[in-house]
Amino acid sequence: MLHLAIVGSGPAGYYTAEAAQKLWGEHVRIDIIDRLPVPYGLIRSGVAPDHQSIKGVARRYEAVALTDNVRFIGRVSVGSDVSVAELQGIYDAVVLATGAPADRALGLPGQELANVFGSAAFVGWYNGHPQFAGLAPDLTRGRAVVIGNGNVALDVARILAKQPAEFVGADIVGGALEALGASGLDGVTILGRRGPYQIAMTPKELGELAHLSRAAPRVDPEDLPPVADDATLDPGLRKSIQILRSFAAPPAPPACPFDLTFDFFAAPRALIGHGRVEAVEVERTRIVDGRAMGTGDIYRIPASIVIAAIGYQTTPIAGVPFDTAAGRFANDEGRIAPGLYCVGWARRGPSGTIGTNRPDGFAIVDKIAADLPAGGSGKSGRAGFEALAKARGLDFGTFRDWQKIDEAEVARARQGAPREKFVSIDAMVEAAGKK
Ligand code: NAP
Repeated sequence: MLHLAIVGSGPAGYYTAEAAQKLWGEHVRIDIIDRLPVPYGLIRSGVAPDHQSIKGVARRYEAVALTDNVRFIGRVSVGSDVSVAELQGIYDAVVLATGAPADRALGLPGQELANVFGSAAFVGWYNGHPQFAGLAPDLTRGRAVVIGNGNVALDVARILAKQPAEFVGADIVGGALEALGASGLDGVTILGRRGPYQIAMTPKELGELAHLSRAAPRVDPEDLPPVADDATLDPGLRKSIQILRSFAAPPAPPACPFDLTFDFFAAPRALIGHGRVEAVEVERTRIVDGRAMGTGDIYRIPASIVIAAIGYQTTPIAGVPFDTAAGRFANDEGRIAPGLYCVGWARRGPSGTIGTNRPDGFAIVDKIAADLPAGGSGKSGRAGFEALAKARGLDFGTFRDWQKIDEAEVARARQGAPREKFVSIDAMVEAAGKK
């Protein structure tokens, strides 16, 4: 029997489990360990609450979770409750699928000012991640500045622009919905340090900005290259640019009280304020060999809240080699050390779609199969974990516990919403009947 531990129950974790099941069938036992009592990682806490169709993929993970040879172990933090070395002593292979849940630092003067957040924290807040439930962003007045030209910047800008009625069918948490409903913000500036041709925004996500009830996207036509140049672009980017062109074309309808303004060639240089952020100091850039070069032209944008959506990094785990510059585990195509692997964002950094993690999961299982003796190395697996948990007094959660939490969240949903998430671990544990 082969014993596999997968740390992290997001897409990369479940696709790895699926791949291991396909390859070894009855001959593998898989334990998926998560620090939260609830599974699915980025699907629950990262994917936008108004993108429910993307979250539907969790049903596929559930099918994997419900098979006999896969077990969910909730509320166990690898690195503090148990060490990676301990897991390696118990399992034939340990796969770190911990994603990239931490914000990359902006590294700007003033980043410590109040009402400045990274997107991991801000998205975690409206998605009900227990770590960020107490964030309490002040949305009561002024203007938001979102830094970054990726899809997370679009998610954040769209959520800030939406009215409560536009969240019907979304699983945004009640507290965030209330704060957004009472929002006194009058617009969002989306800052890109490079230009339209360098965006990391995809057409579907950009197109959504055209369908908001009170908000109008705006692009300065001067920022757009000549139309003829679009022919050189790959089809996806060309589509995105066509959408940006449509945002530049029509005069904004006067009825729109909320603008979503794209400010390209605009590199943030400092956050300004007394205690709380009041403005972003920006330097105009031009692109040289694909890089943003400052022009010396400095200006300020008023900002009562700033959200930096500039990418994520993996959280280091004690004893695991870490590539600090890249913000992920040091690895060679997923291999960290004998018996220790990483997969998904923890391997390659935060890129691609949810689906990109599926081939990643299958590839890492192929590597494990190539490295391990057939039939495993006689390690204790689940029995060993249970003994360790007992010795350490770890009262870990199960998939059945999650199902009870799930049922309770669905039962307490506001009208039209799929669920009302519990935003504290205590409340989750109570809903599981463990308190
Ligand atoms: P991303 O796609 O890497 O975009 C990060 C953005 O931040 C880039 O525009 C980058 O500009 C900018 N940036 C980085 N450092 C900066 C700095 N110091 N100052 C100013 N700007 C800076 O990351 P993401 O938006 O966090 O998305 C992560 C992944 O999740 C992506 O693969 C994304 O497509 C995916 N995602 C998908 C969806 C969806 O499909 N609906 C939704 C959300 C996220 P440069 O290009 O100049 O470096």
